[in-house]
Amino acid sequence: MAKVRVAVNGFGTIGKRVADAVARQPDMELVGVSKTRPSFEARRAQEKHYPLYVAGEGKAAEFESAGLKVAGRIGDLLARADVVVDAAPDKIGKENRKLYEAAKLRAIFQGGEKADVAEASFNALGNYDAARGKRTLRVVSCNTTGLARAAAVLRTHWGIDHWEATLVRRGADPAESKRGPINGIVPTLQLPSHHGPDVRTIFPDLSIATTALVVPTTLMHVHVNHVRLARAPDTAKAVLHAFETTPRFHVFHPWEHADGTPEVMEYARDRGIGFNDMMENVLWEEGIRLDGRDLYFFQAIHQESIVVPENIDAIRAMFDLAKTGAESIATTDRALGLRSDSAGS
Ligand code: NAD
Repeated sequence: MAKVRVAVNGFGTIGKRVADAVARQPDMELVGVSKTRPSFEARRAQEKHYPLYVAGEGKAAEFESAGLKVAGRIGDLLARADVVVDAAPDKIGKENRKLYEAAKLRAIFQGGEKADVAEASFNALGNYDAARGKRTLRVVSCNTTGLARAAAVLRTHWGIDHWEATLVRRGADPAESKRGPINGIVPTLQLPSHHGPDVRTIFPDLSIATTALVVPTTLMHVHVNHVRLARAPDTAKAVLHAFETTPRFHVFHPWEHADGTPEVMEYARDRGIGFNDMMENVLWEEGIRLDGRDLYFFQAIHQESIVVPENIDAIRAMFDLAKTGAESIATTDRALGLRSDSAGS
């Protein structure tokens, strides 16, 4: 079967990772990426031999005067693709949708867009089957992806009566020099925060309330969770086992001395997958406590990369390239080096 031809529109934090991930998949071909202006990321695209196209209001002459070869404009890229992954900044995806509609192209959007940008919101563990054959999908945001993955595990094993989560959010991505805060803690005064309703785009019947605050760190988000389960697990170890045996969860044990997000990201650098990314939900064995039906746990979310494998599975669901969500997840994770039987780990 011919490989699905994938275009990536927007080659920033998410787009450059998705492009690399597509290029590694056995059933997909990266036909090109786009930038609006020359930058170090455009230079990297060229160094990786990814065909580079001019997006938005960008000018080909600016690229050429910087010594960067362009293969055409975004319309030329879309004409070569079966699907486009839109990884443009928040709210620009909605504008770009007009281009995709005109090109009669399938499209995947990111979590910075409202849910109505696409036919369905997507999380691979959460609702793979509902996404099959759709022409447009939205991969939910980093925080929502982390919550949806954990919800998928807990719902399957014990059911969820109600979930309260506090999201401690990173102030900026590491490369963002103009965002903050660089000092202080900024509460998100919308109560509850928008994340709970966003999780319900994956699990419409889930009772969840979230609150959020932003802190001066760039590494990861951390979620503080209290879940009232429908049925009591036998032990906290049973919960640990459920998480540990699900793809896209990584549990740190006490003897690893990974006390917080700095050590987690140091582990990611040691492991060297992708951009030294941590695409799994990160849990700490000691940070899981059970009191009857009340489960407490922390999880850390690497905002720059957690949605990358989900974008790949969204493509596979759209084109029905796998028999089950589990099969797609296994293929994706093997290609990305997330599985222990894969070359990259
Ligand atoms: P980014 O700013 O790092 O990258 C966006 C890229 O798109 C830039 O290269 C920019 O030049 C380019 N661009 C600008 N206008 C464009 C246009 N009209 N057409 C095509 N490209 C254009 O942003 P990001 O962090 O990668 O975010 C992309 C999307 O992913 C957003 O919806 C965001 O909410 C979502 N997301 C971001 C994170 C994160 O932590 N960074 C996590 C999950 C989801």
